Amino acid sequence: MTLSCLSNAICRILVTVSLFSALFLGTATREASGADPIKVLVVTGGCCHDYDYQTKAMQLAAKEQGIDIEWTIVFEGGKGTRAKIELYEKSNWADGFDVVVHNECFADTDDASYIRKITDVHRNGVPAVVIHCAMHTYRSAKVDDWREFLGVTSRHHEHQSRYAVEVTEKDHPITKGIPEGYKTPMDELYIVEKVWPNTKVLATSKSEKTGEVQPVFWTNNFGKARVFGTTYGHSNDTFTDSIFLATVVRGIVWAAGK
Ligand SMILES: [Zn+2]
Repeated sequence: MTLSCLSNAICRILVTVSLFSALFLGTATREASGADPIKVLVVTGGCCHDYDYQTKAMQLAAKEQGIDIEWTIVFEGGKGTRAKIELYEKSNWADGFDVVVHNECFADTDDASYIRKITDVHRNGVPAVVIHCAMHTYRSAKVDDWREFLGVTSRHHEHQSRYAVEVTEKDHPITKGIPEGYKTPMDELYIVEKVWPNTKVLATSKSEKTGEVQPVFWTNNFGKARVFGTTYGHSNDTFTDSIFLATVVRGIVWAAGK
């Protein structure tokens, strides 16, 4: 979880400008069509990554794909590795949302009862998308609830590189937009020590150190909830990559059951 995001100032300005115009136009389109938007809650914050940029990039990508999403952003917890988000104190914290995107990074928060306030809501049927450092969030916890929810157990990552992504489920609606020969922007390879039983691996990448194959995109069934996950998403370069962003958006749509 080193802080080495390579921000690109021009991309950042373009994303921000495009986002505001797209969001404005999107409101008009939604009102004209009368279709229900997907209600997405993004919980983001913590160590090591540019969550403001990443959130805006996801919003813009959805708009560019014509996916109508009503976003609620909870960006809390500072920049450290230990925090508790006030939102989770309410038992009905996810009511009204179709999908919760977890893009947070709190490795040292280890309070089991706090963690179960989050996972119980998902177990009861609230779908989720889990991105990158969500996999190392609650890493210090002794209970496995969060890892079972994610669908993978990971505690460390290898160096940044441009990793080749091999799609193992080519007909899945989430991965069918990933082209043959796709390589990530510079990103970290998370080492997955356990794939949980309800997890279906959609795509893998190979360690440059050991040659071992690691899941990088997957789906999980956790209780009544659909979960889509990816271990990629470290840098702003990844969140500027149209193939990665489109995959995340398809993951949101899939998790919502749309
Ligand atoms: Zn990272």
